[in-house]
Amino acid sequence: MNSLVDLRSDTTTQPSAGMRQAMFEAEVGDDVYGEDPTVLALEQTAAEHLGHEAALFVSSGTQSNLIALLTHCQRGDEYIAGNQAHSYLEEGGGGAVLASIQPQPLPNETDGTIDLEAIRKAIKPDDFHFARTRLLCLENTFFGRPLPLDYIEQATLLARQHGLSIHLDGARVFNAAVKQSVPPATIGGCFDSVSACLSKGLGAPVGTVLCGSREFIDAARRWRKVVGGGWRQAGILAAAGIYALKNNVARLAEDHNKANQLAEGLARIDEIEVDEAAIQTNMVFINLPEVAATTLSPFLRDNGILISVEYNPVRLVTHLDITDEGIRHVISTFETYFTQHPLN
Ligand SMILES: *Cc1c(COP(=O)(O)O)cnc(C)c1O
Repeated sequence: MNSLVDLRSDTTTQPSAGMRQAMFEAEVGDDVYGEDPTVLALEQTAAEHLGHEAALFVSSGTQSNLIALLTHCQRGDEYIAGNQAHSYLEEGGGGAVLASIQPQPLPNETDGTIDLEAIRKAIKPDDFHFARTRLLCLENTFFGRPLPLDYIEQATLLARQHGLSIHLDGARVFNAAVKQSVPPATIGGCFDSVSACLSKGLGAPVGTVLCGSREFIDAARRWRKVVGGGWRQAGILAAAGIYALKNNVARLAEDHNKANQLAEGLARIDEIEVDEAAIQTNMVFINLPEVAATTLSPFLRDNGILISVEYNPVRLVTHLDITDEGIRHVISTFETYFTQHPLN
C-alpha cells in the first residue's frame, strides 16, 4: 500500500477533482468591496444551511471564533466556555490577548456539556467588581461527540434568561447533524452565532463560515478586517466551500461508518483499549501501552499510516480520503505491530 492513510485529522484531505474544477471555474471579484459573487453565494448558502440570516466567510475556525468573541463582547466582558473547549484552550487565548475579553472556563463533561447549575453560578451579578458575563460558548462535536439536542435547548434557554448571547463553535457541526439525523439548521438555529469549518470533514482546502443575524454579521465583517482577515478574490476558495456543502455533507455518514469499522478491528487487538462510548462520528480514541509510544508511530509511518501519538488516548480521525481498503490496512498493520511487539 503506497498511498498514505492519514488518521491525524480530517483537515489533511486533498481537494477532489470536482472541487478543483469548481475552484478553477469560480467567478471572482474583490471581496473587501463586497464584489466577489462566489463568496456572496457561499455566505448565502452557508447561512441557509445553518439556520441564520447571514454569514461571513473567514480563513479559519480560530479566526471565526475570535471574530465571534470580538462581536459579542467588549473589553471587560467575559465568556463562559468549557475548560477543554477549543475556543478556550487551543486558540492562543485570542480573546484575552487581542480584546481584553476574559474567559470563564467551567469543567466539560465527557459528552461536551457543561453543568447547567455551574453555568448559572458562574454568571456574575451586575457589580463593578466583576467582569460582565456576556456570552456562553459551546462546542459541537466535542471530541467527536455531538452535543445532546435537549442539552442545547436547556443551555440556550438558561443563557437567554440571563441575557447572555450564545455562540456555537461548530467546527464539526455537520458531523453532529448527520449523526443525529437533523438538518444542520436545527442545531445552528438555536444559537446567536455558529462557526462551521469547511476545511475539516467537508474537504475544502481552506475556510470557515461564521453565521448569525444580518446585524451580527455586519459587525463581524468590521472585526474580520481589523484582524487582517479581509480578502480579495477569495471566490477561488469559496467555490470549494460551496462544492463541499453541496457534495460532502450527507457523505459524512461514510466517515462515521469507517470510524466504527476501525474501532471494531482495533478492539480485537488485546493490547489496544478502544473507548467504545466515544465513537459517535468520525473519531476513534484508543489507549495504547507505553511501549507503543516510541516504536509504533515510526512502524506505522513505514507502512504508510500517519497517527499522532503525543497524547494518550490517541485520536484517530476518518475523513473522505480514507478508503475501506485503508481501514483494513490500518487494522492489519496494527495487528502486525503487536505480533512483533508482544507485551509479555
Ligand atoms: C479545528 C477546530 C477549530 C479551529 O479551526 P482552525 O481552522 O484550525 O483554526 C475550532 N474549534 C474546534 C472544535 C476545532 O476542532
